[in-house]
Amino acid sequence: CGIFGVVGVQDAANFVALGLHALQHRGQEAGGIVSYDPDVGFNSARRFGYVRDNFTKASLMDSLPGQLAIGHVRYSTSGSKGQTAIRDVQPLFAEFSVGGCAIAHNGNLTNADSLKQELIERGSIFQSSSDTECIIHLMARSIQNNISERIKDALRRVEGAFSVVAMTRSKLIGVRDPRGVRPLMLGKLGDGWVLSSETCALDIIGAEFVREIEPGEMVICTAQGVESFHPFHPIKPRFCIFEYVYFSRPDSVIGGHSVYETRRRIGVELAKENPVEADLVCPVPDSGTPAAIGYSQESGIPYAMGIIRNQYMGRTFIEPTEQIRNMGVRLKLNVNRALIKGKRVILVDDSVVRGTTSRKIKDMILDAGAREVHFRIASPPTMWPCFYGVDTPEKDKLLASTMTEDEMRAHLGVDSLKFVSLDGLYRACGQKGGRDSADPQFCDACFSGDYPVKPTDMIDKGFKV
Ligand code: 5GP
Ligand code: SF4
Ligand code: MG
Repeated sequence: CGIFGVVGVQDAANFVALGLHALQHRGQEAGGIVSYDPDVGFNSARRFGYVRDNFTKASLMDSLPGQLAIGHVRYSTSGSKGQTAIRDVQPLFAEFSVGGCAIAHNGNLTNADSLKQELIERGSIFQSSSDTECIIHLMARSIQNNISERIKDALRRVEGAFSVVAMTRSKLIGVRDPRGVRPLMLGKLGDGWVLSSETCALDIIGAEFVREIEPGEMVICTAQGVESFHPFHPIKPRFCIFEYVYFSRPDSVIGGHSVYETRRRIGVELAKENPVEADLVCPVPDSGTPAAIGYSQESGIPYAMGIIRNQYMGRTFIEPTEQIRNMGVRLKLNVNRALIKGKRVILVDDSVVRGTTSRKIKDMILDAGAREVHFRIASPPTMWPCFYGVDTPEKDKLLASTMTEDEMRAHLGVDSLKFVSLDGLYRACGQKGGRDSADPQFCDACFSGDYPVKPTDMIDKGFKV
C-alpha cells in the first residue's frame, strides 16, 4: 500500500490526491482521503479504483477541505482476500473521548488475528476485516489522555510491519515499526510538512525531501515544526529488500540509494554471475527494465525493446484472481516481432513468483520466431511467502518452492534460467561484502525463509518457519 499526509498547507487534500497518484503502483484496488477543517470537522472519502478516476472530481475534492489531510492507496494483503469491501478501504477513522483520529497503514500486522480475538472477547466491535482496525481498538482501550500517546500504546502491542500515517485535528503523525520494514519519508512543502511512502510522491507536489523517518521513530508534525520520539525498544533494522527489487518506483530514493541505480546494479551482478551468449537483452517491462539495462552494459550485448507494454494496464499481480491474472499478461504485453525473429534473446525480469508471466512471455517470444530464450531474474528464487505487506501467494503456489532451478527451466520451456544470488542482490543494494548471514542488513524472508518478525498468526494456522 501507499500512504501520504500533508499538514499546514491550504487544500491539503488536493496535494494528498496528487501524492497518492504518484504512489498508485503500491496499490490499485482502492484509495481514500480524510481531511480536517476547523469549520466543518473531519471529512472522508473512500473509493474503489484509481486515484485519478475519483480524487480529481471537484465535487469530491470540495468535500475534503482543510490544511490537514492523509490518504491511502490499497492492495489487499490481509483481510478478505480477493474482494476488497469498501469498509476495508483506508484511512480508517474513529472518534475517541480524546478526539478524532484517522489512520492509514502500509504493511501487515503479524499478530492481528490473535489481537482481534482478544479484543472481540473484551467487547470490541470490528467493522472491517483489515488488520489495521486492531490499532483503532487498541487505541480505544488505552487510558492515555491524548491521541499520540494512545497511538504509542497501541503500536507497542502490534507485531509485524507498519509504516503509519495518522492525523488528529491539529497533528500529522508518522510512525515506522522498529524493523523499518516498509518505507516512510518526511518532506517540506512551503510552511507545511509531508509524509510519504516514497520520495517520488514528494517530487510530484514539489515538496523538498527532508529525511527518512527512522525505524522505530514516531514524528508529530504541526505548522510549528516536527517533534521526534522513539517509543519502541531499539532493534536492528531490516528494511524490505524487495522494495528495491520491485515494489518501489525507480525514481524514488531509499536509504540514500536510488532505486533505479540499485536495479541497474542488480542487472550488472546478474550478468557477472550468469553470462550467456546472445544477440539481444530485452526487459520484461516495466519491472525488468533497469536490470536489463545493467545486464546489457555489463555484458556488452545490445539492449532492445523486444516486448512492448500497453501503458494503460496496471500491474498484473495486483489483479486478485487467477483468471484475470492469466489474461492480464496478454492484455499488457506484446512482442516486437520484427526485432525478435531469428534472434537469441536474454529476457530480464525482476522476479518469478507463480511463473505465469514468464511462461506466457516465453510462448509469445518463441511464437515470434526467437531462436533461443534465456531468462535472467533480478532477484533470487521466491521461495517463501511475505507476511509483511507484499502479496505473495501461499508457499505451494510459489514456483521456486516446489521445483529445483532446472525443473523450473523445463517447466517454463526456456533454454536457460538463472537468478541473481542473494549476495549479488545485497552487493547491488550497497552492501559490498554481500549478505551478513549472522546479522542480515535487510528483510529477505521471501528469498531466504529468515523471517525477522515471527509470523505469529501464520504459525498458529500451522505454517512452518
Ligand atoms: P509470476 O507471473 O511469476 O507470478 O510473477 C512474476 C511477475 O509479475 C514479475 O514480473 C513481477 O513483476 C510480478 N508479480 C506477479 N505476481 C506477483 C506477486 O504475487 N508478488 C510479487 N511480488 N510480484 C508479482
Ligand atoms: Fe520484503 Fe520479502 Fe521481507 Fe516481504 S518477505 S518484507 S517482500 S523482503
Ligand atoms: Mg513484472
